[in-house]
Amino acid sequence: MRSIIIENAQENNLKNISLQIPHYKLIVVTGVSGSGKTSLVYDVLCAEGQRLFLENFIGGRHSSSKLTHPKASRIEGLFPVISIDQNNVVRSPRSTVGTLTELYDLLRLLFARLGKSELPDLHLHRSLFSFNLPDGYCPVCKGLGVQDHIDPELLIADASKTIREGAFALTTPNNYIVYSQVTMSVLNQVCNAEGFSVDIPGKI
Ligand SMILES: [Zn+2]
Repeated sequence: MRSIIIENAQENNLKNISLQIPHYKLIVVTGVSGSGKTSLVYDVLCAEGQRLFLENFIGGRHSSSKLTHPKASRIEGLFPVISIDQNNVVRSPRSTVGTLTELYDLLRLLFARLGKSELPDLHLHRSLFSFNLPDGYCPVCKGLGVQDHIDPELLIADASKTIREGAFALTTPNNYIVYSQVTMSVLNQVCNAEGFSVDIPGKI
């Protein structure tokens, strides 16, 4: 089966909607307000996905009231479903689909339980699989996947000048560094600490 098949969906205001949604594609559901986008996506697709999940993993132990089928004559071809509410997303550079849905915690647990360590003394712990913790993250970017660094092409206006004459692109004619309170005399103190001054050319 290469698609999700929905037949005669009648959840909320849906009027016997039948459609096929191909697998492995990014699908966008659009339409005017009240046309049933949310009913289709959340109340049919997500509801059925969660029902299947509960049925498979919790089965008979769960009360049947939570396992009601969405109103449709047929829903097939669903993969496990995750949903992310567009309104309650806390955005930070460290959030991913995995962290927002808490799937990532489950994956870390899985790796920690099933993984085999190459080193005899290294006990596998969940934190080793976290890109948000020092044990697990990449030491270069600390798990953010990006690195800040200075581009000399943008910083240096004229390397043959002194800093006071405007070697840096970011000093202003009245001897401040742009967008800061740093004056030329402060900059000179920094230079002095490094054994030169803002009046010696060719230092940057
Ligand atoms: Zn990195």
